[in-house]
Amino acid sequence: MEIMRVENLSKVYGKGDTQVKAIDNISFSVKKGEFVAIIGPSGSGKSTMLHILGGVDRPTSGKVMIDNTDIYGLNETKLAIFRRRQIGLIYQFYNLIPILNVEENMTLPLLLDNRRVDKKKLNDLLDTLGLAKRQQHLPNELSGGQQQRVSIGRALINQPAIVLADEPTGNLDSQNSKEIVELLKLSNKYFNQTLIMITHDPQIALQADRMITLQDGRISKDEVIRP
Ligand code: ADP
Ligand code: ADP
Repeated sequence: MEIMRVENLSKVYGKGDTQVKAIDNISFSVKKGEFVAIIGPSGSGKSTMLHILGGVDRPTSGKVMIDNTDIYGLNETKLAIFRRRQIGLIYQFYNLIPILNVEENMTLPLLLDNRRVDKKKLNDLLDTLGLAKRQQHLPNELSGGQQQRVSIGRALINQPAIVLADEPTGNLDSQNSKEIVELLKLSNKYFNQTLIMITHDPQIALQADRMITLQDGRISKDEVIRP
């Protein structure tokens, strides 16, 4: 079953002489539950594309259809709600809020949606992430690996249909990288969540079901690894 369809997507930054075509007429679709690795050289448009897929950066032209909703056809309020419920975003540098503790950072998407925090579920998630004893800690009191676990918790708390990760292991040592990828794969399999991950690490990319290579804003390769 198809969950996402990208149609003739383009993104142009700037004007005149400094104009850059970051994404150049890209089309593809993604199946529900698929784990897709996005690879390609620096500047090939990976981050730009991921942000457009996640509803956080408007394309210059083209469409992103998620569950048959044209997400950029929604007004800003509806897009914000859609994003919070359907999309989990994970960044290389965590993007946690420094003045909020672990629990507050993780439950932020629920609070923004006026949803009650279910303590039992929260504690289960904290356990799974290995953060049970860190609930009250601030981000700067945590290691990089722990901060990335908090950001994964924040991305998963609403059980989004789609998880988008931009170099989630880019700032971590190999042991932490392994563990973070295992957590994301677990959630991908267990909840049949769609996972789209940018990575520079060939070992990680090879664990995906499919590998899409970007080059100069276009798809230069689209390979199935596991059918
Ligand atoms: P990647 O993630 O593959 O490194 P990016 O999506 O970050 O690539 O960038 C693609 C191209 O778009 C690059 O040439 C980059 O310089 C340009 N670019 C990215 N963001 C901006 C921006 N906010 N303003 C202008 N140009 C940008
Ligand atoms: P399932 O019932 O499908 O096994 P859960 O409802 O237990 O899934 O939720 C999956 C994960 O999301 C859990 O680990 C849980 O911690 C977290 N979660 C979901 N909803 C909430 C909530 N309202 N408050 C706190 N955590 C939540």
